[in-house]
Formats: sequence, C-alpha cells, structure tokens
Amino acid sequence: MIELRNLEKRYDNPLTGQPFYAVKDLSLIFPSGEITALLGPSGCGKTTTLRMINRLIEPTAGQILVEGENTQSLRPEALRRRIGYVIQQIGLFPHLSVAQNVATVPDLLGQPKAKTRARVRELLELVGLEPGQFGDKRPSELSGGQQQRVGVARALAADPPVLLMDEPFGALDPLARDKLQEAFREIQHNLKKTIVMVTHDIDEALKLGDKVALLNAGELAQFGTPDDLVRRP
Ligand code: ADP
Ligand code: ADP
Repeated sequence: MIELRNLEKRYDNPLTGQPFYAVKDLSLIFPSGEITALLGPSGCGKTTTLRMINRLIEPTAGQILVEGENTQSLRPEALRRRIGYVIQQIGLFPHLSVAQNVATVPDLLGQPKAKTRARVRELLELVGLEPGQFGDKRPSELSGGQQQRVGVARALAADPPVLLMDEPFGALDPLARDKLQEAFREIQHNLKKTIVMVTHDIDEALKLGDKVALLNAGELAQFGTPDDLVRRP
C-alpha cells in the first residue's frame, strides 16, 4: 500500500513571489492489490502527485510511505525495485530491441541474464506479444498499442509491488485502447499489484479503478469505489 500524508507541492511564482499549490495537504491511501484511479481535469495535480511518489519531483511538505517505508529514506535503486512506471509517451529506447527494452531494469539491477531472458519472454506473453515474433523487433516496427504493451512489460520486469501509470492508454485509438485495457485487467487479476493510474477520463476511471480518487485544484475532492462515486449526486 502507498500512503500519502499531508503531501504538498508548492511553486513560488518567481516574478510575484506568490505561492501556488500544485498539490495541497493531500492525505490518501492507495490500497494494496488494487487499482486506484487518480482522476481530475487537466492541471489538478495528478501527474505531480504520481511523480512525487517515485521522487521524480520532491514534495515541499508531507510524507510518502510505500509498503510502510518512507520513500525519503529509500535509496534510488531500492525505489526502482519497488515501483514500476508507465507513461503515455512510452519512452522505449529506439535503438534497442523489444526484448532488450523489457530487460533494461533487470539488467541495470544486475540480475542473472538467463533468468532475465526467461522473464522477458514470460512478460511479452503476458502482455499479448508473441516473444518469437516481437522480441527482436525495434519499437518503430510496432504499432502504438503494441509499443504501449512493451511499456507495460518493461514496467513489470523487475516485479515491483507498485505500478504507477500516467495516462497509459491516452495516446491509443479506441480499439487499441479497449484491447490493452482488457489485457491490463487480466494482468492485474493475476498479479494484484498496487496500482495508481492517472487519468482525466471518467469512464476509464470507473471501468478500471477499484477505487477512484478525485482531485480538484491540488486537493482531494472525493475518494471511494466507482459505485460510491456514481451514486453521489
Ligand atoms: P495534471 O497532471 O492534473 O494535469 P499537473 O500535476 O501536471 O496536473 O500540474 C498541476 C499544476 O501545477 C498545474 O497548474 C501546472 O501548471 C502546475 N505546475 C506543474 N509543474 C510546475 C512547475 N515546474 N512550475 C510551476 N507550476 C507547475
Ligand atoms: P546479452 O547478449 O547479454 O543477452 P543483449 O543485448 O542481447 O545482451 O540483451 C540484453 C537483454 O535483453 C538481456 O537481459 C537478454 O536476456 C534480453 N534479451 C535479448 N534478446 C532477447 C530475446 N529474444 N528474448 C528474451 N530476452 C532477450
């Protein structure tokens, strides 16, 4: 589980000195083994919150606990082991093959090559890409949906308990999106990761989220199951 305690990100306007709170006094629990959709309009602080969890952005106040440990006291490698990250712009390395892309983190962590090889094949199967057919291809030879599948496989490669996803289906056409959402639901059904999924799409949040956290102007507006949210006026 991930716990945010009074999390804050303040930016001071360099011209006026006026403070601006991208995230303000945010206390929230993302339960273990569940998908929590972090929902809200553009600019409400979703990405900032997500990036504070993996410490790509430093909070100006508050704490983040991942599986009970304060992320501030974790070394970067320890954080990478615990947290996988999937973004809309994918960010696959174009000069590496699909399999090499998936193997990036295990290789970085110095895991045994033979184990990684087997793991890469397993992950490609898991996201619905036949390893023999796709493993040695370059990302540019794949469709957007297939590339995004590789992105998911890569994020799962080191088997982190936590997965952070920023608009993971946002760049896909509706058909590819539906297919990947289905595959993803199946994956989560088997793996039961703690997932935080940023989206501005309410249908997606209600469809995939076990819980939905609604942000408004950097603050928590609502938190509950999809049923809780639709029942409320
Ligand atoms: P969302 O992901 O919900 O669209 P963000 O978390 O990206 O929103 O941004 C929240 C707010 O913080 C926005 O108003 C954005 O303009 C502001 N913001 C983000 N980064 C910076 C920055 N480096 N300096 C000043 N303001 C920023
Ligand atoms: P090496 O020669 O050490 O395997 P590579 O650059 O060929 O190095 O591969 C880098 C990583 O990608 C390794 O961890 C390897 O296991 C993995 N890898 C490469 N090709 C495949 C493949 N076709 N199937 C599974 N894993 C692969």
